[in-house]
Amino acid sequence: MSKIFDAIIVGGGIIGSSCAMHLAESDLSVLLIEAKEIGSGTSAAGMGHIVVLDDSEEQFVLSSYSRKLWKELSCKLPEDVQWKQFGTIWVAADDEEMQIVKEKHAFYTERGIKTEVLDKKALAEAEPNLREDLVGGLLVCDDAVIYPQCASLYFANRAKENNGSVLINSKVKEINTDGTVLLGDGRKFSGGIIVNAAGCDSVDLSKNCGVFKRKGHLVVTDSYPGLIRHQVIELGYLKSAHVITSDSVAFNIQPRISGKMLIGSSRQSNADDSRIDHVVLAKMLDRAFDYIPRLRHIWAVRTWCGFRPATPDKLPLIGPSPDSEKIWFATGHEGLGITTSTGTGRLLADMVLGKQPEIPCEPYLPNRCAVGDSSDAQ
Ligand SMILES: Cc1cc2nc3c(=O)[nH]c(=O)nc-3n(C[C@H](O)[C@H](O)[C@H](O)COP(=O)(O)OP(=O)(O)OC[C@H]3O[C@@H](n4cnc5c(N)ncnc54)[C@H](O)[C@@H]3O)c2cc1C
Repeated sequence: MSKIFDAIIVGGGIIGSSCAMHLAESDLSVLLIEAKEIGSGTSAAGMGHIVVLDDSEEQFVLSSYSRKLWKELSCKLPEDVQWKQFGTIWVAADDEEMQIVKEKHAFYTERGIKTEVLDKKALAEAEPNLREDLVGGLLVCDDAVIYPQCASLYFANRAKENNGSVLINSKVKEINTDGTVLLGDGRKFSGGIIVNAAGCDSVDLSKNCGVFKRKGHLVVTDSYPGLIRHQVIELGYLKSAHVITSDSVAFNIQPRISGKMLIGSSRQSNADDSRIDHVVLAKMLDRAFDYIPRLRHIWAVRTWCGFRPATPDKLPLIGPSPDSEKIWFATGHEGLGITTSTGTGRLLADMVLGKQPEIPCEPYLPNRCAVGDSSDAQ
């Protein structure tokens, strides 16, 4: 009879790999199954910004907890993960946005997140290439940047070092409520629990989980060291991320250790086509040129699209299915899954082990919405 694992995780993106690492480090026997390569799905398409966001209290709690865990991990990360604490500057274009900067500063300060209000002069000193009429910004000092695919691989390798097993190029066809998974090639594995961490494809395995795709474009430039020094985002980004029903673009630029820059961002909810949408791309770049006119004169080296695994209430699903104690979810992290991978893995492992988590798990439990089980009949 084949081995029964304590936990089988389906999907080796940054979320599934982090869950595998946290479970294996808790001495559970773990099998991580990935259809392609580790970290090759949405996690390879993401920007890698480790950022505290406050669209809701629940989002703030999970993202700040996760950033704290990243920081604790940072000294152990291999070089290829490219951890660097650049900080984020949220840019205010007018007095109304400057008021939001002050409110955010108060909110973050009250909760122990280090921020600084930058006036017009301080903003220009911090980022000399921004256009001149901007009125100020908020510097979130401890936000960082990583290279997500290598981080996913690091998590999966840490699972292996703790006796976890990793299967790649192995697509799961069914997750069953009896705690088995069936692979496309006929292999079958049994687990105490099965975690659906298949990102945008979660819905193929658990048809009622409600996860849907939000398309995003990114551009990577050639190397221009020092052209920007922080991750710089317009305050309007928050509005763009918040509104789920319509397409949107916002200015968001990231420096990399190499001197290259990543330029985003766009969001489209009803777009299944993985090809570049040139209309959206042009709008996104116009937004960036508007904030940093010098960008018009630099070289881009590649453009791509990715799909964020979204949920209707903009919070991830972490925990057991309401319909089956054997089936768990770690999915639906939308545009924040690189950041919240650490918190998700820790939270899930604490729940599995029956330990009191450091943050409340209730806001992320799948039973808050009509999430169905996986089903034996897909
Ligand atoms: C343009 C863009 C920019 C982003 N920028 C950021 C950012 O700066 N910061 C941030 O925090 N987040 C960002 N995100 C969001 C982040 O990338 C995602 O939330 C995160 O990568 C989701 O990880 P995941 O593991 O759930 O999904 P994935 O990485 O897609 O992993 C799921 C895995 O499951 C596998 N799989 C699917 N079906 C099966 C099956 N049947 N059997 C086995 N395996 C299967 C897939 O092959 C895949 O590897 C961005 C996303 C996009 C698109």
